[in-house]
Amino acid sequence: MDTRGLTASYKPTSPSPGHQEPVEQLSGSRIVPELPEVETMRRGVLPTVGSQIVAIERPPCLRKPISIRPRIDALDRRTRGRRVASIGRRGKRVLLELDDQQLIVIEPRMTGLVLLADPPTTDHLRLRIQLSGGPVSELLFWDRRGLGTVQLFGPGEFDASVCDRLGVDALEVTVDDLKRKLGESRREIKVALLDQSAVAGIGNLYAAEILFLAGVDPRCRCEILTRPQWQRIVKATKIVLLKAIENEGSTLSDGTYRNALNAEGSYQNYHRVYDRAGNQCPRCGRGPIRRIVQAQRSTFFCPSCQRKRGAHPQVELAIEAQRNL
Ligand SMILES: [Zn+2]
Repeated sequence: MDTRGLTASYKPTSPSPGHQEPVEQLSGSRIVPELPEVETMRRGVLPTVGSQIVAIERPPCLRKPISIRPRIDALDRRTRGRRVASIGRRGKRVLLELDDQQLIVIEPRMTGLVLLADPPTTDHLRLRIQLSGGPVSELLFWDRRGLGTVQLFGPGEFDASVCDRLGVDALEVTVDDLKRKLGESRREIKVALLDQSAVAGIGNLYAAEILFLAGVDPRCRCEILTRPQWQRIVKATKIVLLKAIENEGSTLSDGTYRNALNAEGSYQNYHRVYDRAGNQCPRCGRGPIRRIVQAQRSTFFCPSCQRKRGAHPQVELAIEAQRNL
C-alpha cells in the first residue's frame, strides 16, 4: 500500500482478515519528527534566546485541545516577564529554559512543529508565546493531529520526572552505553533502537537508515550482536543523524514536517532504504530492498548486505565514505 500523500483526514477501509498493515500506516501517520527534525526545530528557534515572554495564549482552535500543563492561564502567569535563557533538546523534545530555571518542554510527537514563521494552516495552531526585546515577536506551536504536548517544569522537576527515564542522547551514545542497556536483550535490534529509555532520539525512519549503513540485519537479536556490530551501529547512528541535521531533517511526501521557518527539510533525498521497498540496493546493487513489519511498524532493509553475522565487504567502506563526506 502506498501511503504517501495521506493526511489526517485519511480514513482507512477495514483491512481484510489476515491483512497485516502496520499501525502507523493504518492510522495514516508517519513516525517523524525524530532527533534530526527536533534538533532542526531547536536551532531554528535560537533567535528567541534573550527575549522576554509577554504572554502565552491558546489561539482559537476548534480542534480537540492538545495537552498543556499546567492549564494555559497558569502557564501564562508563571512565565510572563521571564526571559528565554537558552534552547535545548532532550531526545525528541525542545526545551525552552527560562531565566528562573523553569523549563517549557515542547514534545512535537507525530505532527507538531515549533515555528517562528507563519504556520502551514491557522486551523491547527495550538500555542502562541508572545515575545519582546528580540528579533522575533512570537514562537508558535502548530500540530495537525494534536498529539503533541507542552509542559512547564519548575527547577529540577524535568530531570527528576522525565529526563532520568530517557537513555543517552543518540548523538552522544557510546558502544558501552548500548551494550549496557541492550546487550542482554532478546529484542530485535531495530525494535530495541526505538526504546527511548535505551537511547533517546531514534525513531522508525532513522533506525532503518542506521542499520542499513551499519550493515546489520534489523531482525538480529541484541544478545547475539558482536562488539564490531555494536561499533558499526554507533558509528552509523552519528553519521546518519548528523547528516540528517545538516539537511534539516526529512520532509516526507505528506509534507507535514517543516523547519522553524516553515520550509521543507531535504534528507528525504538521501534515504537509502526507508520507503524504498522493491528498489535495487544502492550499496551492493542487489537487494531488492524489503519491507517487513516489526512491532507493528514497517522496517526496510537489504537482505543481501545487512547481515546477522559478520559484515558484507562493502559495509566498512560505505561507513568510511560517509564519515568523510
Ligand atoms: Zn544491499
